Amino acid sequence: MEKTKVSFRTKCIHAGNGIDKETGAIRRPLTMANSYRLPEDASAMNWSDPNQLVYTRNTSANQIYLQQKLAALEDGEDCVVLGTGVSALAGVFFTFLEQHAHVICSNVSYIAVYRLLNEYFPDKYGVETSLVDTADLEEIKKAVRPNTRLIHIETPGNPTTRVSDIAEIAKIAKAAGALLSVDSTFASPYLQQPLAMGADLVIHSLTKYINGHGDAMGGAVIGRKELIDQIKRQAMVNLGGVISPFNAWLIMRGVVTLPLRMRQHSRTAQQVAEFLEAHPAVAFVAYPGLKSHPQHEIAKKQMSLFSGVLAFGLKADAATHNQFLNSLELIVPAVSIGHDESLMVYVGPDDERNHFYPPEFKDGHLRFSVGLEEAEDIIADLQQAFTRCGL
Ligand SMILES: *Cc1c(COP(=O)(O)O)cnc(C)c1O
Repeated sequence: MEKTKVSFRTKCIHAGNGIDKETGAIRRPLTMANSYRLPEDASAMNWSDPNQLVYTRNTSANQIYLQQKLAALEDGEDCVVLGTGVSALAGVFFTFLEQHAHVICSNVSYIAVYRLLNEYFPDKYGVETSLVDTADLEEIKKAVRPNTRLIHIETPGNPTTRVSDIAEIAKIAKAAGALLSVDSTFASPYLQQPLAMGADLVIHSLTKYINGHGDAMGGAVIGRKELIDQIKRQAMVNLGGVISPFNAWLIMRGVVTLPLRMRQHSRTAQQVAEFLEAHPAVAFVAYPGLKSHPQHEIAKKQMSLFSGVLAFGLKADAATHNQFLNSLELIVPAVSIGHDESLMVYVGPDDERNHFYPPEFKDGHLRFSVGLEEAEDIIADLQQAFTRCGL
């Protein structure tokens, strides 16, 4: 039975795993080595081959197993795993954007993407960037230029949960002769499969849902072998952002429970979003699973569930938002998303992307990654924080 042809849940467990030849262990061992024994005749060897075990900056055994698992989960030909989500994103931009190339990007996206495409690549390398609202297909079409090489979207987007229509944007990219890359971190491969909808590359911060336990960082890009090979050669071997074998091993273990976790995250987040939306002190809630979400219909079309991240605002000033955050007893005030524990941050109006936010976000908002605790306990914690703030 081929381990890549079975159902998603089964792949999470078996893909990339195998029996260790030396010990008979039924789980891939952790190999913390920097180098591997060379062949007896190394004269014809490519020292920088990213698919051969030579030196751990080229690739490691644990990295290869994780790449096999993630490629199977997204039904892609190949995968490259790097040290962080940002190194995976930067790797895509570095590989496919040459001087004077044009890129179209979501105007609401992860902060490092915003800085890379809006500042560093244009200023240092003359890359042209159009930042648009990618929920609006007409805006994307209008932004296309003869030198458009890449359309990059993040859906659902961080932090506003904006949803972009992957299948429709893939058509625009194809017509423009450009690649479409999708940062699918908020959804994970379990809830959304961008390659099947026509995307060329799907990117994940493994730090979030895929690892799921808040104890290792990583990033991945999945797609056609010919594209992934270019990223491996240019952005991995020669920029050096590889993952530690230990982190690859931890993430490999985390993925096993991805479907169970995503179902629970999604169910609890829906309950919490509905609780918040009904609360008189809440100004707005952004969660793709709510009927009030502006792209709820697109989310329903392309996601099987709506994941665990939401954003909301209080009918109160910045100081009260901070007081609310510091009144929480169970939910942890900390960055990141997709951990087992619930995490919340307050993003104030001084955020550098603020002018791109929808109007309700402009006075500041709370981003909430709903964890795996009992929904009643999370809601009780929110309730006591409302009471303590007099809301
Ligand atoms: C966290 C995050 C990233 C960056 O990932 P790191 O592993 O922190 O480098 C990129 N995109 C999205 C949507 C994220 O949430």
